Amino acid sequence: MAGIYFHYPFCSQACNYCNFHFSTQTKYRQEMQQAMITELYLRKSELVNPIESIYFGGGSPSLLPPSFFYKTIKSVKNYFELSNNIEVTLEANPNDLSLKNLKDLKKSGVNRISIGVQSFEDNELKMMNRIHNANQGLKAIEWTSKVFDNFSVDLIYGLPQSNISSWAHNLDVLISFKPPHISSYALTVEPKTLLSYQVEKGEVKLLDEETVKFQYDLLISRLEKESYINYEFSNFGKFGFHSVNNSNYWSGKPYLGIGPSAHSFDGHRLRSWNISNNLKYLKLIEKGYLPQTKEVLKDNEVFNEYVMIGLRTNGVEIRRVNDSFGSNYVVFLEKQVKKHLLSRSLFWDGDVLKVSKHARFLTDGIASDLFMLRS
Ligand code: SF4
Repeated sequence: MAGIYFHYPFCSQACNYCNFHFSTQTKYRQEMQQAMITELYLRKSELVNPIESIYFGGGSPSLLPPSFFYKTIKSVKNYFELSNNIEVTLEANPNDLSLKNLKDLKKSGVNRISIGVQSFEDNELKMMNRIHNANQGLKAIEWTSKVFDNFSVDLIYGLPQSNISSWAHNLDVLISFKPPHISSYALTVEPKTLLSYQVEKGEVKLLDEETVKFQYDLLISRLEKESYINYEFSNFGKFGFHSVNNSNYWSGKPYLGIGPSAHSFDGHRLRSWNISNNLKYLKLIEKGYLPQTKEVLKDNEVFNEYVMIGLRTNGVEIRRVNDSFGSNYVVFLEKQVKKHLLSRSLFWDGDVLKVSKHARFLTDGIASDLFMLRS
């Protein structure tokens, strides 16, 4: 099985924390639609497995008309074999959705909507420079739930102006809609973003680590009570509604990334990524060239990725480490985990290494302690 990801690199407004590749200019938006379909054609022989997920991300692909999705899904059908229960996800900003637009999107072949609500508090949305307000977020979920059975809502915790009770309120509102899937990420300050400048200048004061941890722990306990399965550190789904797209990434399945800055993986060792420049991308695609850089992952890079993803999902299997990387890696791992086993942050479940519930918030830091720095 395999997946295709489309990156539409345009947004109406820049969120202060965002470091994805996007442009707020209106120039080249039309050309980009055709170029992405052309790139798909140029790469039609790269995936041999049936496609079980198509994902439209970005940027803001919800700015695109439903006709674009119809045309693109049709092209995917022409060039690739599709699995019967294919998942077709569209990432959407709340202000781009209406009842009519959602119905048209469904007719175009999209069968899952991932709504970037991020918060139900107007002051928090304003701080992030999100383009929508709280009411538009509420309406978007209400309309989406009328048209789609399968949808997801994104919320951000650890926001500067938040506290325990505003986060609890956000969770209560979210749960009241019973979304089948929820993704929740901590606000992170990425270099070269407006947020990093605001923090440096003292215009934005970050939330203390203890409150961020408390918010994450509350997220887990509230959602577990509502029968959501925390199948990845930041992802929660009702039974049968785990994201196929995300699960494919984490299990190392091949995927094609179409559009500027999109990443691809061949399911083994080869990773590539497209140029993060809209004009250069358009010019190269027009000439029939693929604007890619490629790299072959080394043993230690594959191991480190497996450790990170394993600890964030179902755990790290020692047998798999032995089979894929050899006994040196097993000896290394067993040495590195000692202090985390002593502090009970990690535990063995049979031959699978897992993160204890109380240490879940620290997962990424624990994983980086287990990284092999050289092959
Ligand atoms: S809408 Fe999404 S991609 Fe666009 S700036 Fe905001 S977070 Fe980034």
